[in-house]
Amino acid sequence: MTIHQIVRNTVERLKNEGKTWTPDVYAEVFCAEAKKAGVAVEDCSGVERYTALLDKKTADEIKLYRVKTTAELIRFLISKMSRLNPTEASALVEMLSSLAKQMAKSVEMLHNAEAAALARKTVAVLDERGGATQIDLLKQAWSNFLSIYDDTYLMKLAEFGPVDTSNLRRTIEGLRFSRAKGAGEADYTSVAQLVVASLLPSIAPKMDDATLRLSQKLKNSPEFLASAECEKELKAAIAMRIALDKRSVEEMVHTLDRLLGKLSAQLIELIERSENSTAEIRDVKRDLEALEADKPADFKTAHKRLYTIATALEEKVEVLGKDLKIHNDKVERMGKKIAALEAELAEAQQASREDFLTKLFNKRAVSEFLSLKEAEYERHGRSYSIAMLDLDHFKQINDTYGHEAGDAVLIAFAKILKEEARGTDTVGRYGGEEFIAILDTDLEGAKIFGEKIRAHVEQAHFMYQNHRIEVSVSIGVAERSEFESEKALFKGADARLYDAKHKGRNRVEPA
Ligand code: GH3
Ligand code: MG
Ligand code: MG
Repeated sequence: MTIHQIVRNTVERLKNEGKTWTPDVYAEVFCAEAKKAGVAVEDCSGVERYTALLDKKTADEIKLYRVKTTAELIRFLISKMSRLNPTEASALVEMLSSLAKQMAKSVEMLHNAEAAALARKTVAVLDERGGATQIDLLKQAWSNFLSIYDDTYLMKLAEFGPVDTSNLRRTIEGLRFSRAKGAGEADYTSVAQLVVASLLPSIAPKMDDATLRLSQKLKNSPEFLASAECEKELKAAIAMRIALDKRSVEEMVHTLDRLLGKLSAQLIELIERSENSTAEIRDVKRDLEALEADKPADFKTAHKRLYTIATALEEKVEVLGKDLKIHNDKVERMGKKIAALEAELAEAQQASREDFLTKLFNKRAVSEFLSLKEAEYERHGRSYSIAMLDLDHFKQINDTYGHEAGDAVLIAFAKILKEEARGTDTVGRYGGEEFIAILDTDLEGAKIFGEKIRAHVEQAHFMYQNHRIEVSVSIGVAERSEFESEKALFKGADARLYDAKHKGRNRVEPA
């Protein structure tokens, strides 16, 4: 069947059904006839053609509302568009605007003055809900900014480290100025030199290891000065420097002290030993005075001078010591000679029976007499007595008038003793200012003898160089028959003499 026959059938049907011939009614009947005849007419599938282009949700809606014609489809779409929720759209706009504002504010924070200015302006426009013209101007300004934006200046940093233009922070953190040959380096170098020089101890002989290391570090990398770590190390080094200097001063003072101590000891020794080296001592003293007056600026000079003085002193003391040794040897030889002579003298005295000072019998002679008396007593029972005589406070006489006066008194006393003794009595010097008399009498006779001597001495005028010397004597007497032995007799007489002294001296015991 042709299109002509379908048209004829359509007209026939419109006439039969009495329908009004509007284009829509005609198109509807025509498409129904074409479908009946099995002919595909493109105009009759218009709606499907468009719905295929739409999203599934809308296509489903179109089916649901039985949209058949293109006109119906247009009507449907118009009504759908007018049905779109107006609040949804404005909320979307609002969100976009706030996002843009936030972005602009972020840009404002960036370190670019132009971008920040533009961002501020954008925020203001968005806040004021500026019109399309204003927004368009802004769009233009941003586009200008992007087209002329240039960050190649960042490459200047490449000298100091890797540059990452997309991450300024990482770039800055990675910068190292240690090997920089920038303008600032010269300053650090000269300051570092000064610091290193000031770290050198002024007194202590050498730096400590830590300070040495710090000096080396500063010499090699002056920019280390700018670090906080350096400040810490410097403080420690300064403290150490002070401590080292202090210790050195203490050591030096100690050394000087020791040296001065030795020096004064040597000086004293020198003065003690030498009588004729006053000139040398004066020299040493002058040197020491000069040292005091000069107040040497540094310890080394003082040390050196003291050392020189000490050495000179040492030499002098050594020479003097040698001299002294020679003198000592001489003195020693003389001493030996005297001792030998003394021994000879003692021997000679021993051999003689006479006391050299008083010319009385000496102890040895008295002892011999006593042996004879003792033999007679034992053989024949002939008793005898002894008197022990000791001058009172004789030491005082020596001390007051001198030893020679003492000797004179001893001689005078011996004379009295000899005068008072009978022919049969024996008187002798027993030692020092002690005398003994061996008497041919009993205890009573001995007492009388004793009293005679005592009284005589008391009245005698002992003169020495126009001085009258008061002399008295204490006496202890004993008879042989009173005692068991000669030894006991001696002990007894001695005890009585002691008694006489104890009872006030110048007396005879027993009275
Ligand atoms: P006291 O009354 O207790 O006997 O006192 P003292 O001073 O006599 O006795 P002491 O034993 O303390 O001193 C005796 C002195 O006699 C000490 C000594 O110097 C002195 N003397 C001893 N022999 C001699 C001598 O030969 N010549 C002289 N001048 N003095 C002598
Ligand atoms: Mg005596
Ligand atoms: Mg005496």
